[in-house]
Amino acid sequence: LSRRTSAVAPMALAALLPAARESGATDLALGIPRGSPPGAAVEAAVAALRSGSHQYADPAGSPELRHAVAAGLGAVRGVRVDAEHEVTISAGATEGLLVALIAATDPGDEVLVPEPFYENHPGVVDLAGASARFVPLTGEGRRLDGLALEAAVTPRTRAVLLNNPHNPTGRVFDRAEFDALTALCERHDLTLITDEVYDRFVYDGHRHLSPVGGVPRLRHRSIVVGSLSKTRAMSGWRLGYCLAPAPVTAALRRVHERTTLGAPHPLQRGAAALGPEAEAEVASVRAEFELRRDLVCDGLREAGCTVHTPQGGWFVLARTAALAGDSAELARELVERAGVLVAPGASFFASPGAGRGWIRVALVRDRDRLAAALARVTAHLTRTPIAPRS
Ligand code: PMP
Repeated sequence: LSRRTSAVAPMALAALLPAARESGATDLALGIPRGSPPGAAVEAAVAALRSGSHQYADPAGSPELRHAVAAGLGAVRGVRVDAEHEVTISAGATEGLLVALIAATDPGDEVLVPEPFYENHPGVVDLAGASARFVPLTGEGRRLDGLALEAAVTPRTRAVLLNNPHNPTGRVFDRAEFDALTALCERHDLTLITDEVYDRFVYDGHRHLSPVGGVPRLRHRSIVVGSLSKTRAMSGWRLGYCLAPAPVTAALRRVHERTTLGAPHPLQRGAAALGPEAEAEVASVRAEFELRRDLVCDGLREAGCTVHTPQGGWFVLARTAALAGDSAELARELVERAGVLVAPGASFFASPGAGRGWIRVALVRDRDRLAAALARVTAHLTRTPIAPRS
């Protein structure tokens, strides 16, 4: 096996899934949307299959979907997006990230990755042939710290990979943090790659800032990666996009042609049939997620956990009192004794032991299920303190 393949660690959660599935544990680990995509998309995808969209689409993405994505982003972010020269449809954000990293870095280059991180990010950096340098989000508030970023820069640093809203912490990075990031990128001529799959899930009136909307000074040096997986509840359709300046987009498309030759054509036609999301619909889904967030934060605090209330995204990261054991062991106990699958903290930190005591809970179940699962977690965590190991 290649060195870079060997560098990609198995998902920490993988070891827990068989036991969780067998025992019927409530899955609060994976960010899989519940429910179905809007009916109009399903109908249009079926019609596309029936009418013979069986061959390759334009590798850059079907023009209809590129225009739909550009129009949607343009409306929400208050910017102009050029569907012809700035948008590439990828097979989910996951392929979009790989394409962006391959286009922006050479083998041996370094990419700054805030830690804790979405667990697939380091692996995608490795597969692109670069290596991740982790920069801790600092303090209880998990802030992006200009000094910490600066300290991590080396002559090999080429890019920053930022997930905003952030999985797993729920941070929505603010103006001061973006100012520091902008200064850093300009000082060292770095590419900023933003993973914005949770862009519509921002709570309490916080504003989602992005090179495309809010921070225009970064736009010419940025690749914005987005997804239809979460907002349209179509994670299995594997549709995402890269948004980048025209010359970068030309390069991204060359890479994307070699990784996939394009996302599935009939499904692109299905997704393209959806108009821009109705703001009322987005607001009601967001309000529901906000209620779930409050319920989960309260429940976890009752269970003795320390929680920093997420400002966005689909997850709550919590520090339990069980700091002695390994986080995977703690997660296994919760499967076996509480019937709940959470993501172990080890998934989100690079150094061994760093995630000790941490768990991540996803907001993807309805409130009744969340409440029932949290009651079992509380019963377990408060009644059976985990003995410190010698
Ligand atoms: N980025 C982040 C931060 C995610 O949490 C996820 C899904 N868990 C993805 C990307 C994957 O998105 P996609 O389904 O579009 O590949």
